[in-house]
Amino acid sequence: MPRSIKHCRACGAAVSYRTPADDNRDRATCTACATIHYENPLNVVGTLPVWQDKVLLCRRAIEPRRGLWTLPAGFMELGESTAAGALRETIEEAGAHVEMLGLYTLLNVVRVGQVHLFYRARLLDTEFDPGPESLEVQLFSEADVPWPELAFRTTRTTLELFFADRRAGSYGVHALDIT
Ligand SMILES: [Zn+2]
Repeated sequence: MPRSIKHCRACGAAVSYRTPADDNRDRATCTACATIHYENPLNVVGTLPVWQDKVLLCRRAIEPRRGLWTLPAGFMELGESTAAGALRETIEEAGAHVEMLGLYTLLNVVRVGQVHLFYRARLLDTEFDPGPESLEVQLFSEADVPWPELAFRTTRTTLELFFADRRAGSYGVHALDIT
């Protein structure tokens, strides 16, 4: 995993990665005040918004993967539930009006220390208002999804599962590891 912490959040001194007593892995430890900074996976929460036979995708206006297409999603904030965060991201990135349905995918992206959670959502209308993080928002039928221009593996996996489940006529909850 990346060693991303350089300075102590408590006092600003440099940290060094070392294994504390009674621990089993290296932690960012302040060289001055000995504060230990624990790092844990982050949750990315989003939705799979559906209108009739189409799904909503956003074209990213920001790095990484600027110009590529993604489901509306982003980092969960403190003070909100996973569903509330997914709804917030859908409003912020797409300006879409949705009814939240169930949790659909839980995707462990161990390599980057993230867990991505996508909820199915029903679009209430087709009025969109792309936020500053989106160049445009568009509905795609399965045949029109820009598969080579998807930004993230978790978007691709969620869409593939969705179209397969729709053909099968039932939507489960899918928990997978993305390698
Ligand atoms: Zn310190």
